Amino acid sequence: MLVHDMIEVRFHGRGGQGAKIASRILGRSGFLAGLYAQDFALFGAERRGAPVVSFTRLSAEPIQQRGDIERPNLVLVMDDSLLKESPAQVFHGVSGATPIIVNADPEGLACAVKELPAVKYFCIDMQRLAHQWIGQSFVSAIAAAAAAKCIPAIKLDQLTEAVRSEIAEFGLAPDLVEKNLAAARAAYDQTPSIDLARAPKLEQDFPAAWQAVPYLGTAQFAGPTIRQRGSAALRATGNWRTERPVIELAKCKRCFLCYLYCPEAAMRLDAENFPHVDYDHCKGCMICYAECPTDAISRRMEL
Ligand code: SF4
Ligand code: SF4
Repeated sequence: MLVHDMIEVRFHGRGGQGAKIASRILGRSGFLAGLYAQDFALFGAERRGAPVVSFTRLSAEPIQQRGDIERPNLVLVMDDSLLKESPAQVFHGVSGATPIIVNADPEGLACAVKELPAVKYFCIDMQRLAHQWIGQSFVSAIAAAAAAKCIPAIKLDQLTEAVRSEIAEFGLAPDLVEKNLAAARAAYDQTPSIDLARAPKLEQDFPAAWQAVPYLGTAQFAGPTIRQRGSAALRATGNWRTERPVIELAKCKRCFLCYLYCPEAAMRLDAENFPHVDYDHCKGCMICYAECPTDAISRRMEL
């Protein structure tokens, strides 16, 4: 990194995946490497599975800039379903030369990018690494390691120290901290060398697929405008899920608790009053799993 250059990294994830922790690990890694660092997150809907964006700025000079990262040098996408979700704004401020590292399997990404803007995609199967090394779909340390590999000023030792302190601060048990460290090292090894310095600054935005509503002040608007009633069903929250509930009907006593507690109305009852999950709208919050008195509901990782 040149002395006056600033590296700006944007992480896109879903609530529960650890996008904020990823940006913190990268920020701390940069700090340990002797750089000035900023990291912060924007949670939007603040619901598990909802799009989350977090940011890390690193520079050899003091950082005067505040606010969101509009022109990232590097983008990390921790859930590939966000690529096609306009409100997630993954492509905002991205040029054709901006590297985008996507958590996906190579085959799936190759298929998906045919309909996406032509940028420089790099594929790391973070989900697979997380399951292999951690046994959970927690990809913070892995995403941070992939980003750190692209910043030559950050060495592996600084990354691992940052992972250790950030994950421990998060309150995870010592064995989980070690597992996250192993996952971070594996991700660091797997990430190709990506030269961020060669990515030219943006000349032309990709056209946004959404329309921003101008802010007109509280005198005109007291809240969002609802244009259509009953439209929540049109929002397929199923792609927010990292885990799915599975019902074993033989154990079900038809107490209806899962049906009553589900915040998405994603539990349906059949003609005999047995519950069934509507996977198009179940967001994987696992409230039904926690409430079921007969352990008829189990949780499975989405792979
Ligand atoms: S996990 Fe259970 S409670 Fe949560 S949205 Fe899905 S069906 Fe509803
Ligand atoms: S909470 Fe459990 S026992 Fe009760 S209806 Fe749901 S699955 Fe059946």
